[in-house]
Order: sequence, then structure tokens, then C-alpha cells
Amino acid sequence: MNEVEIGQSKIVFLKGDITKQQVDSIVNAANSSLMGGGGVDGAIHRAGWPAILEECKKIVAKQGRLPTGQAVITTGGKLLAKYVIHTVGPIYKSIRESDDQNWMIRGSENQREQLRSCYIKSLELAAEKGVKSIAFPSISTGAYRYPLSEAALIAVQAVKDFLKQETSIKDVYFVLFNDAAYEAYVEAVRH
Ligand code: ADP
Repeated sequence: MNEVEIGQSKIVFLKGDITKQQVDSIVNAANSSLMGGGGVDGAIHRAGWPAILEECKKIVAKQGRLPTGQAVITTGGKLLAKYVIHTVGPIYKSIRESDDQNWMIRGSENQREQLRSCYIKSLELAAEKGVKSIAFPSISTGAYRYPLSEAALIAVQAVKDFLKQETSIKDVYFVLFNDAAYEAYVEAVRH
């Protein structure tokens, strides 16, 4: 199943390159500097250059580095998407946690909240602009090493929760770059 309906909206899972998507807005897994970097961040800046970087520089000059879990919106520059929403995912650091019976190795509550916040804040910014469609990459699961299965559950739950309210956003795409990521997200939506 690569599609699920939530109220008046739907979540769609695709394999592909987020810079090629014909949607109103795409989300960038940025870093706090907002100056571009590797992975999806580099790909988005290259495809939208130079307007995206120019707006990012203005944002940083005004409000400083972007904290983890927060989001800002810029033009899409030369991209097909009108807007790019830049958000900073947490850098994964595992901890041992006990639920009285089992020890588990996973992200801390704080990191889970920060990752969830990336999705919620991005959706809020998109909705403020009245966008109908938004595409997300798998935030934090590349250079920031968040385990895919855990990140996918947090991402899908955040989007599902957001779509329970009245919103302009009708289509939410997860654009996954490889088979492992695609399978993790399709699995997460079964929960
Ligand atoms: P982070 O620093 O948040 O971990 P990365 O860019 O390193 O961000 O990785 C996030 C995810 O984006 C990874 O799953 C990676 O495979 C994926 N990715 C990289 N390039 C693209 C792209 N062009 N489109 C969609 N996803 C991409």
C-alpha cells in the first residue's frame, strides 16, 4: 500500500528524488547554518540555486542559526515547487531505556519530540501559505543517522496527527530515496 487516506487528505509514499517533484512545497532536511550541505540539502540548493541560498542568508542574518526541530520557509527558486521549507532534524544519539521489562536502545524522548516537531512545524508553515501539496524526505536518517524504522514511525504519526484538523493540505508525499527507506515508511503506516 503506498497511499493512505486521512480525513479529506492523503499520504502518498514514493521512491524518487524530491527535487523533481511537481508539488507546491518541498521540505529540506537542512542543518542549523541554512547554508546547504550534503545529501538532500545539497541537492535542493543546487536545483534551486541561487534564490534559495540568498533567502536563507537573509533569514540567518535576521534570526541567527535555526534550532533543531524548527522550520523556516523560502522560495523554491528554480525548482518546480513554489516553496522550500527548511527544517533541522536531530542528530541521532542512542540511549538505553527500560520499560520495567525490557531494555531498549533508541532515541531519547527529546530527540523523538524534535523529529516530530520538524514535521509539525513544516506542515504549519505550509498551511499558513495555503499550499495543497507538500513533499517530505526522510529527515535525519542520512548523515544524522536516525534509524529508519524509528524515524518512519515518528514521521508518519506526526503527519497523521496533523491531518486530523481542517487544513489546506490535501496531499502529503514522502519521497524516499532508496528501497530501504521506502519499505520502512510503508511498514510504518501499517501501525
Ligand atoms: P540528515 O542530515 O537529516 O540525515 P540527509 O540528506 O543526510 O539528511 O539524509 C536524509 C534522507 O534524504 C536520507 O534518507 C537520504 O537517502 C535522502 N536523500 C538524499 N538525497 C535525496 C533526494 N534528492 N531526494 C530525496 N531524498 C534524498
